[in-house]
Amino acid sequence: MPTYQYQCLDCGHAFERFQPMTASPVRECPECGGRVKKLIGSGAGVIVRGGSSPPPSEPGSGCASCPSAGGYPYCPRGG
Ligand SMILES: [Zn+2]
Repeated sequence: MPTYQYQCLDCGHAFERFQPMTASPVRECPECGGRVKKLIGSGAGVIVRGGSSPPPSEPGSGCASCPSAGGYPYCPRGG
C-alpha cells in the first residue's frame, strides 16, 4: 500500500496516510477539519533527478564547475 501525503489548505498541517489505492482520499484536516490537498510524489520515489538526461560530469559538455552544464549546450555562466 502506498503512503499518501496531504497538507491542510487552512492551517498548513502536513500529514501522511497509509492506505490502499482503493480507499477514498482524505478530505478533512485532522487538526482543524479544513480542506486538505493531496501531495503528489513526495516520499514515494517518484521524483527522479536526471533519469533521462546525461550526467553533469560528462566530459566536453561545458564548464565543469557549472551545475547546469549537463543540461545545456553552453555554460550559462559564460565559462
Ligand atoms: Zn488544518
